[in-house]
Amino acid sequence: MNTDWNPAARVRDMGTSVFTEMTELARATGAVNLGQGVPELDSPAVLLKDVAAAVLAGSNQYPPAAGFPALREAVAEHQRARYGLEYRPAGEVLITTGATEALAAALLALCDPGDEILAFDPCYDAYPAGARLAGARLVPVPLELSGDTFVLDPGALRAAVTPRSRVLLLNTPHNPTGKVFTADELAAIADVCREHELTVVTDEVYEHLVYGDARHLTLAALPGMRERTLTISSAGKTFNVTGWKIGWVCGPAHLVAAVAAAKQFLTYATGTPYQEALARMLGDVEEWAAGLRGTLSRNRDLLTEGLARAGLRPCRADAGYFVQADVREWGYTDGVRFCRELPSRAGVVAIPTSAFYVRPNAPSYLVRFSFCKREESVRTAVEKLLSAA
Ligand SMILES: *Cc1c(COP(=O)(O)O)cnc(C)c1O
Repeated sequence: MNTDWNPAARVRDMGTSVFTEMTELARATGAVNLGQGVPELDSPAVLLKDVAAAVLAGSNQYPPAAGFPALREAVAEHQRARYGLEYRPAGEVLITTGATEALAAALLALCDPGDEILAFDPCYDAYPAGARLAGARLVPVPLELSGDTFVLDPGALRAAVTPRSRVLLLNTPHNPTGKVFTADELAAIADVCREHELTVVTDEVYEHLVYGDARHLTLAALPGMRERTLTISSAGKTFNVTGWKIGWVCGPAHLVAAVAAAKQFLTYATGTPYQEALARMLGDVEEWAAGLRGTLSRNRDLLTEGLARAGLRPCRADAGYFVQADVREWGYTDGVRFCRELPSRAGVVAIPTSAFYVRPNAPSYLVRFSFCKREESVRTAVEKLLSAA
């Protein structure tokens, strides 16, 4: 083995993550895995049958680079019906290899080396990685915990803007916190973006998974924002088909064309039979998502109440797959150590929230538990935590 060999700087230290370590721990110890956000829940049966039929009918070659036309039409209709936003299926909608490729292609298309990308911290781990692949710098804007809720300080956002700021990357509903950005927060974000002429990339993969009274709003619908915003979503979280990797991006033609230019040389195109079946399913998303929200919000409640009873103070999660918990009452200040010891101590796997923080001096005592699991798994995990408390 050549020990002098180094990979390119843009991927150095990206190798193994705490996700790999915790997934391996779960496998090795047989612990209940509330680490990674991989759903254990069913997908719509009609969607699965439709994909199988499409494969057998021969829908197995490259689709158009921009995506299967019927899916682009269904995505445009989805944005119109849900948010009152009009996008032309030809030119303003692009189908991608999951939201992940849409994000990577957007950052590659929008940023020159040295540009700055503003993102709220903690953030999804693909954001700092995507910034680095583009040669850009991710500038974290803290979401601070106030009581059990993560809040945005618009002053901190303003203070983070520099002449190099080019893109604001917003994730709402938010992973890992389960935060849904409020109308006031979005209005403040939109003000900053208009004032400093920032291009916005929004990641809304949890748009349908919002619980209780919380309501998802899309930034592109705010005054003056459609023309500067790329809105990204995906089928994975909405239909429990995370392995299919079908995503999409909507925006004004000049921005979508730039993303398409990068995307065509990353993957060119993806998943013809999945695209075909999703084009038919997306029109029925509201009915499907209402049922899924019921399941997930019950799991969220079970987990939140269980964590509180076990002395792991939970934060409020209004959306998505995850609850953050404060592990200090168990005698830990370091969430990484807590997560390394939890499988043997309690038979449960979680992920330290530090894996999602970019800024130094972020809270180290938070860990993330996922609840996109069978109710039985969540119940078992709660019982185990209570026994170990
Ligand atoms: C899961 C997730 C993604 C990835 O979506 P894919 O469609 O599977 O690529 C992107 N952003 C966030 C915030 C996620 O949680």
